[in-house]
Amino acid sequence: MAPEYLKRSAALIESANSRLREMGAPCTINYSIIGRRTQQSTPLTLSKTLTWKSVAEFVGWNSQSGTSDIQKGEPDTLGVFATSDIQEGDVIFTDSTPWGSTSIPAISKVTVAGRTYPGFRCENCCGMTNIWHRVIHQAECCTTNYCSRRCLEEAKATYHKAICGRDFSWLMNSQKNEATPVHTFDLDRRMWLRILAICVQSGLHPLDHPLIAGLTPNYESGEDVSRRWSLETHVDVPQRILTTLGVDVFKDMRYDTWVLQTIWARMKNNAHGGVSEGYNGPVATEHVNSLYSFINHSCEPNAEAKDVFSTFTPCSAPVFGSTTLAIIAKKSIKQGEEIFVSYIGEKTEETRKQRNEALRNWLSEECQCTKCRREA
Ligand SMILES: [Zn+2]
Ligand SMILES: [Zn+2]
Ligand SMILES: [Zn+2]
Repeated sequence: MAPEYLKRSAALIESANSRLREMGAPCTINYSIIGRRTQQSTPLTLSKTLTWKSVAEFVGWNSQSGTSDIQKGEPDTLGVFATSDIQEGDVIFTDSTPWGSTSIPAISKVTVAGRTYPGFRCENCCGMTNIWHRVIHQAECCTTNYCSRRCLEEAKATYHKAICGRDFSWLMNSQKNEATPVHTFDLDRRMWLRILAICVQSGLHPLDHPLIAGLTPNYESGEDVSRRWSLETHVDVPQRILTTLGVDVFKDMRYDTWVLQTIWARMKNNAHGGVSEGYNGPVATEHVNSLYSFINHSCEPNAEAKDVFSTFTPCSAPVFGSTTLAIIAKKSIKQGEEIFVSYIGEKTEETRKQRNEALRNWLSEECQCTKCRREA
């Protein structure tokens, strides 16, 4: 692979930082001294609450003045740092994404305060909205529903123009039958559709697209990613999607199979999601949140990511269970401190050996967090 696809460029980091600045987030992305080697990913696990999968980042060690290492072609190690003091319980930032998918049908039911109403799912953020609020947004081009103007604009700006009017019924048919058991529900093809539409609409080489270029530079497919490799998921489905999007997969080398493989590995290394209890039974969700993926792991994290379960914004319906993440301070964080989350959920309470075992999904070396170093 060309070395430029292994690193996250200064321009990319700057654009992520400008997103944080626009939100007024009290943090910034910078070079981290705690580096990690990522190896592989784990499959989505079943649990009552959403399981925050990976994030997984960062190849190798680096120094604070990492720029020179980057220029020498060393893999970069980034982290998120507080730019001012943060109080426990503060929302540090929220991270919405167009790269998400869910097993909830477009028209479904939504429960508010114990009562059930007809509802719709926002195509962009996958959140459920009570139809009685009559805050449905639609683009001029079609009848696709969005929860807010923001979601409508994001969809138009990122992927919707590429898919609007094209026939993806062959891909969506698996959802026609609502009784499809959620654990067999195939979110992968929908995640493929979303990211490929995003790439095609942008006209960029997929690996230059900020949503993909910002993800873990370690694309080496771990054992787990390889094990789940299949001709259908890796080649057939994405190529058919691309053909439907109007790409000549035999001529357009931007979508060569090694590129598809790279997108797949990064998606699996960074996707959040899992299965949660929905109104009609379990609901499977998967999403890649690009800002969140810059946060490193610690076994004593000072922050956590939570599903934004209900969002009330101007001109928006109440949204339940969207793919937006809120990063919340678990303790007070001083200016300059690095912000960490746990990649292993509550397993941070286990022994160092058990923690490292669990972290093997993301780190190929022993965890170097403060707790692990103290206990070493
Ligand atoms: Zn939405
Ligand atoms: Zn449309
Ligand atoms: Zn640790």
